[in-house]
Amino acid sequence: MGHEGAGGEEYLFKIVLIGDSAVGKSNLLSRFARNEFDSNSKATIGVEFQTQVVDIDGKEVKAQIWDTAGQERFRAVTSAYYRGAVGALIVYDITRKTSFDSIKRWLDELTTHCDTAMIKMLVGNKCDLENIRDVSVEEGQSLAEEEGLFFIETSALDATNVQTAFEIVIREIHNNISKKVI
Ligand code: GDP
Ligand code: MG
Repeated sequence: MGHEGAGGEEYLFKIVLIGDSAVGKSNLLSRFARNEFDSNSKATIGVEFQTQVVDIDGKEVKAQIWDTAGQERFRAVTSAYYRGAVGALIVYDITRKTSFDSIKRWLDELTTHCDTAMIKMLVGNKCDLENIRDVSVEEGQSLAEEEGLFFIETSALDATNVQTAFEIVIREIHNNISKKVI
């Protein structure tokens, strides 16, 4: 995706968003891709992916970011969803502990369906709701350390760290591939 291979070909980096229903996956993507927030979550059903060009150190890098489009509600994210993904944002809601407890299950999904070299970022979303926080920053950090994940807290509502979360993943993928090409 925007990355020039040895033969000048373009690579497209596939990144998947996963996590329990209603943690804010669709809004993270709409905030990142269109700088929009939608309080009516139903409106996002049906969106499958967005292609986004990101500037990494002066280079245009293209990422195709997939949204579950509501599939996760029925615990039926298909293997086609994961196929070819080189990055993942695994999202929970900092105000809902059960969504954090589900992270291990989502990581198991990635182990089953994806390459172990995949770049993974644990995302604690809804950090604007500090007053009803249910998962501490430290809990997020220590799970990320245990599992070898990047970690960030975000708010799709007020746009905190949304750009940064996606950019870190895209940059890491880009750097890994560049190393292989050289
Ligand atoms: P998804 O099911 O994981 O795709 O979640 P959605 O993006 O549809 O969001 C679920 C609900 O959480 C919606 O009502 C959103 O408006 C709300 N939401 C999403 N992100 C945030 C956030 O960062 N802060 C707050 N306060 N609400 C959010
Ligand atoms: Mg959604």
